[in-house]
Amino acid sequence: MNNRTTTLLFATVFLAACGAGENTDTASELPVRHAAVGLAEIATAEALTGRCNEEEVLLRAHFATLEAYSGQPTLDGYYKSLDSLFSSLGTVTSTAQSLSGVHPDPDLRDAGETCAQLLTKVATDMSLSRPLYDAVRQLDLANADATTRHSVDKLLLSFRLAGVDKDDEARERIRELNDDIVAIGQEFSRNIRDDVRYLELDSADDLAGLPQDYVAAHGPNEDGKIMISTQYPDVFPFFEYADKDDLRKQMLLTYGQRGYPKNEEVLRNLIIARHELAQLIGFSNYAELVTADKMAGSAERVAMFINELKGYTGEVRDREYEMLLARLKKDVPEARQVESWQRSYVQSKVSREQYGVDSKVIREYFSYNNTRAGIFNMVQDLFGVRIVPWDTDTWHEDVESYSLYDGDTELGRFYLDMHPREGKFQHAAMFPFVNGIKGQQLPVAGLICNFPKGDEPIQFSQVVTFLHEFGHLIHWQFAGHQEWSNVSGIATEWDFVEAPSQMLQEWVWDYETVAQFAENADGEILPQELHEAMVAERDFGLGIGTRRQLSYAALSLSMYNRDPAEINFDTLSADIAREFTRFEPLDGTHGWASFGHLNGYSAIYYTYQWSLAIATDMFTHFKEGGLRNVEVAGVYRDKVLAAGGSRPAEDLVTDFLGRDISFKPYADRLRGTGGQ
Ligand SMILES: [Zn+2]
Repeated sequence: MNNRTTTLLFATVFLAACGAGENTDTASELPVRHAAVGLAEIATAEALTGRCNEEEVLLRAHFATLEAYSGQPTLDGYYKSLDSLFSSLGTVTSTAQSLSGVHPDPDLRDAGETCAQLLTKVATDMSLSRPLYDAVRQLDLANADATTRHSVDKLLLSFRLAGVDKDDEARERIRELNDDIVAIGQEFSRNIRDDVRYLELDSADDLAGLPQDYVAAHGPNEDGKIMISTQYPDVFPFFEYADKDDLRKQMLLTYGQRGYPKNEEVLRNLIIARHELAQLIGFSNYAELVTADKMAGSAERVAMFINELKGYTGEVRDREYEMLLARLKKDVPEARQVESWQRSYVQSKVSREQYGVDSKVIREYFSYNNTRAGIFNMVQDLFGVRIVPWDTDTWHEDVESYSLYDGDTELGRFYLDMHPREGKFQHAAMFPFVNGIKGQQLPVAGLICNFPKGDEPIQFSQVVTFLHEFGHLIHWQFAGHQEWSNVSGIATEWDFVEAPSQMLQEWVWDYETVAQFAENADGEILPQELHEAMVAERDFGLGIGTRRQLSYAALSLSMYNRDPAEINFDTLSADIAREFTRFEPLDGTHGWASFGHLNGYSAIYYTYQWSLAIATDMFTHFKEGGLRNVEVAGVYRDKVLAAGGSRPAEDLVTDFLGRDISFKPYADRLRGTGGQ
């Protein structure tokens, strides 16, 4: 999942923290209204803006009615009304924000962004509303079921973490700081996005080692120069394949300067504003505030977790590093260490030479069409569901639409917008449209990816990405049937939300699953020996890679768990790189200036590793029961996916496993003793 979507989701989920079912409210005169926006109604920028402004007026009026209410609040009256307000706000904001990332019309994309900003202000005002908070605190929960109690508790916590219980002056400052943080964060991200730099090459000889299609796509310009940009599709193959060592070094120097020096002051302002916000709300620093509603629960627990994983990865990292150094010495006998610009290049050589895994051969067996069919079949068989076409409006002719059924019951709907297009979001993510609510509305989401079309070959890593994102999609569909919106859908803890997707990725390492769809143009199935080689190669680099991930997690935490005045960005990030990795930071680079997650994820980059540890633990049940065991899958669907946010994630996983969560399976895998 991409951080932009995650941020949106959680903004919606945190603030949109209630939820109600049908319009059966008899307890009061308070309105119950679930806004729905069809794509056909907002097909132009003007229509979207008009509809958005109308909605803002309706939402603010509903909000004002609730703030003015002086009767005794009840679950059937007040809470249902408040929930429908949060739900409406979430639906309209999500739809506008999602369209801003995918719509072919640039004006409509801008209108979607503006609409999302307008409605986010309503959400902020609600999160700081003392009348709403006081009313929810007065609810009588004596006869409430466990899910409703959890929903109310969660809402009260999100109010407190927003600072609702502070005095008027503090709340006003909190509001200002929130606005500042959004604006500064956008500037930080924009400085990274807009800072595209180029390495200038004199001739095609400088592309030696790169794949033929890459060379063909990078012809000389009118001055006879070949320009290699710092964008991912340009830069990553260059690090992996370019034979000329000095050019890889220059490329890394160029790449490592993105966002610098502009982001030095911007980042400083961002962490200062967040530090002040956290202290106003009653925490010693921002890392404490942002972890308070996560599974980990505190910054100290996060630091312990990072340290624990560091302990599991020392030996395997050193072993892998020695393999890289030995391979490098074959070409450069005098080499004494592997430099940061050599890591990817040498690692890729070892993969090809020692494991016989060549990504150019593997990709011949995978296309968008066969992968989609394979994933649909796998999900249908495993979870006993059907995926059928859904006849509806979309935003572009490439977009496909489907419904998910269990027997005759429709569970949800989704869009697949899977191919690149100008102006479209460039990564892979699930975009939310409608958060499902029991008896009220079906969940709707879109998968947004950028894969080649039809029967063209796609990279194996794209197959993995497809499956990962599909994991978010089915979680959204199965979970979107709770009664209250703040516990429906994937309204679970942020450090758990990746786990179902990370676990679903495991199926690509199962030959029986892959052999059902991986077929080349001549109709030949991916050979089992090749798949076995891929499995053997899979964990090569896990020690080095996990240590890099941990260094990012440590940097993310360290930016926010202390007084910002103490931090020297270059020194801190170099110290952390040396603590976790064997690669010396390249002089002149400032990687922190382009580490975009410092905005969206702030202190909690650790969440990826935390989720992965839980995913690995949950997968042990499938390893024992069989990957096509529909009983295990059924229990998993009910207890983990469909439960959504109705209980803390730890309870869901414990219930599924029949025991406490253990990080041991992940530790074993990291130490190379767990097998796959
Ligand atoms: Zn994800």
